[in-house]
Amino acid sequence: MRPLSGKTAIVTGASAPHGIGRATALRLAKDGANVVVADVDDTLDVDGAPRSKLALLDDLVANIADRGAQAIAIKLDVTNVMDVAHCIDAAKAAFGRIDILVNNAGSLAGSDNFLSTTPTQWETSFRVNMLGPMMMAQAVIPEMRKQGDGRIINIGSTGSLGAEPGFGAYTAMKHGLVGLSKTLAAEFGPDGIRCNTICPGYIATDMHMAANERLAKESGLPVSDVKAQRYAAVALRDAGLPQDVANAVAYLAGPDAAYVTGINLPVTGGVPYGI
Ligand code: NAP
Repeated sequence: MRPLSGKTAIVTGASAPHGIGRATALRLAKDGANVVVADVDDTLDVDGAPRSKLALLDDLVANIADRGAQAIAIKLDVTNVMDVAHCIDAAKAAFGRIDILVNNAGSLAGSDNFLSTTPTQWETSFRVNMLGPMMMAQAVIPEMRKQGDGRIINIGSTGSLGAEPGFGAYTAMKHGLVGLSKTLAAEFGPDGIRCNTICPGYIATDMHMAANERLAKESGLPVSDVKAQRYAAVALRDAGLPQDVANAVAYLAGPDAAYVTGINLPVTGGVPYGI
């Protein structure tokens, strides 16, 4: 039997073809879970052409079905309370239970020189990176409590562990996400709910490439130089892959992590966390 057979997982922010969410959904399905893949109703540039994120989610559902697992796609803005309720209802209607929540949706809004960051950017960052995970957790915990079992995995960042210049809002919120994880671990451990934070370093997704391009623009250096400078600080001297993070999620969601809660798990290739 596969380790997650009979379990249901929700993965937020799952549409991007090179994203951590998509890789995570595929990995959890491979381990036997039914998967609810969710994302905002938006468009994404894929190889130079605009694609609807909801259509990308439908492709992902088909991809998961091709591998013999089940999935449904849901439109979900994690900052919208009605969307959150709809996502939980749809998950229960489709699969009857919710065992795993992966709070993967994230935003680099307000990642700027601190003095240039506007209150609106700061608030957007708070809403996506902290309020959304909090509302999703509040929505799934009653289901997990009934089952006496559940896993909540928050996708933080090395920005959860330290700071580098130019990512103020993101760093503040990703630090806050660790506080949320530890609170859930402490408060709902007696109900059998484990909550952990994964802290990816440089992972070669579109979000990461956008950050490299922004730093290149600000510094006047070519993107290749920015990458070389950033990866020089990584012990393994390269960015990781979305699958590297997905593998860590599968561990924390699975039976081997039954006695693991309240931790920050860096998936970084060995990188200093800054201050
Ligand atoms: P990604 O593909 O851009 O994934 C993030 C997804 O979240 C996007 O589809 C994004 O949609 C979505 N999202 C934004 N606001 C949302 C909302 N209100 N409700 C629902 N979904 C929303 O980027 P990624 O690199 O895979 O990042 C996944 C997670 O890993 C994020 O939490 C990120 O902070 C974290 N992380 C990434 C790296 C890295 O190097 N890539 C490093 C450390 C941590 P839009 O594109 O429309 O905004």
